[in-house]
Amino acid sequence: MTATGRSFVIAGAGISGLTLALALGQRGAHVTVLERSPAVQEFGAGLQISPNARFVLNGLGLDEVVGKASFEPQALDTYPQGSKTPGHSMELGAIIRRRFGSPYAVMHRGDLAKLLYDACRHLPNIDFQFGVGRWDAASHERGVTVSVEAANGESRNIGAHGFIGADGVHSHARRHLLEGPDARFDNRIAWRALVPADSVAKQIAPDRVSVFFGTGFHLVCYPLPHRRQVNLALFMPGDKADVTAQPKPQRPGPAVEAILDAVGANWTPWPLYTVDTDRWHRGNLGLIGDAAHAMVPFQAQGAAMGIEDAAVLAPLLVETKSVEDAFSRYALLRQDRVRRVAALSAQNGRIFHMPWPLSLARDTVMIAQGPQAHLRRLGWIYEYKAGAAPS
Ligand SMILES: Cc1cc2nc3c(=O)[nH]c(=O)nc-3n(C[C@H](O)[C@H](O)[C@H](O)COP(=O)(O)OP(=O)(O)OC[C@H]3O[C@@H](n4cnc5c(N)ncnc54)[C@H](O)[C@@H]3O)c2cc1C
Repeated sequence: MTATGRSFVIAGAGISGLTLALALGQRGAHVTVLERSPAVQEFGAGLQISPNARFVLNGLGLDEVVGKASFEPQALDTYPQGSKTPGHSMELGAIIRRRFGSPYAVMHRGDLAKLLYDACRHLPNIDFQFGVGRWDAASHERGVTVSVEAANGESRNIGAHGFIGADGVHSHARRHLLEGPDARFDNRIAWRALVPADSVAKQIAPDRVSVFFGTGFHLVCYPLPHRRQVNLALFMPGDKADVTAQPKPQRPGPAVEAILDAVGANWTPWPLYTVDTDRWHRGNLGLIGDAAHAMVPFQAQGAAMGIEDAAVLAPLLVETKSVEDAFSRYALLRQDRVRRVAALSAQNGRIFHMPWPLSLARDTVMIAQGPQAHLRRLGWIYEYKAGAAPS
């Protein structure tokens, strides 16, 4: 750990805020994390952790604990509409490790949050305040003053060199401190569920990610063997004001129907929102993660981008002479990449939900490209080493 006199306040103990707290804490900065919930939230469902995100987590010393809590699928299979057998497979497993130096894994979001939190708790220079009420932050020439209402209603001021909003898609920091835009509803709902692995054993291979395509929907399934569960996410158009009914995809086919039966009414609807702004900082105030750039999850990169943000921002915040300049440099380094990943995710959403006969063309092209085409097509995402010194 290097010594630094710098101090920071982070709002939000999600994956982005926790990663940043750990990265700053390991560099000797004093960090206060303000979290609205009474504890680190273990809710959520599965996360695919791609090699670019894992590179950062490994750099924070978490390789072994992430390895123990996650699972490396051998492939990602896609199923054309109504098919019981995969039309195409993308190789994952060993080939990903060889090509990108770290694995492609799946895990539960709550498990990742917990192990990041546990690592933070080992550092005496990271404090957590849970159950916080209203807060505000003002930037001035000496840094920031953050006024915060504690769970017991008492208010206090915290002085620090900088403030980072990691408070998610509906970020108070973005909308109020930076006067940025509201999140935009994407007109789609992610229906999430965790089911016992046995209940879908006939439909879902235990060693791979399975993606079922259909007109106007797609269903992503992968095993979480540590929990003996399978993670399911069904994406469909929907109205955020009317998410009480169960999802009913058109012409799902027998495999998807059997999976829907296994879930029954146990879906959790999750309206999808995006954030499109280049206003990521002002003075000594900045944003990371979904607060800055929430995207649709069709390239499974939202959390990965927050993890990368943290890896890029932390060394800048402790090493750059002025915190304001650190935020400027961070935005410069991150915005093009994040925008490109968000655009690809949006494009995937259109491709995945194509109606026939466009879906036939999509499936034919995927087969023609072969099982390793994604290593080239997505190499620019997976090979990125956030926070590493430029070679
Ligand atoms: C269905 C689905 C599947 C996904 N799959 C993947 C995937 O496979 N891989 C991937 O990389 N990404 C995936 N994502 C995206 C990923 O979940 C998010 O991008 C990521 O969790 C964002 O993390 P965050 O820490 O930036 O924000 P959040 O997780 O939203 O955390 C924000 C934190 O701030 C707290 N907070 C909010 N407001 C305040 C406040 N005013 N004061 C204090 N605290 C506050 C919240 O309680 C929370 O703890 C998926 C998303 C969805 C919807």
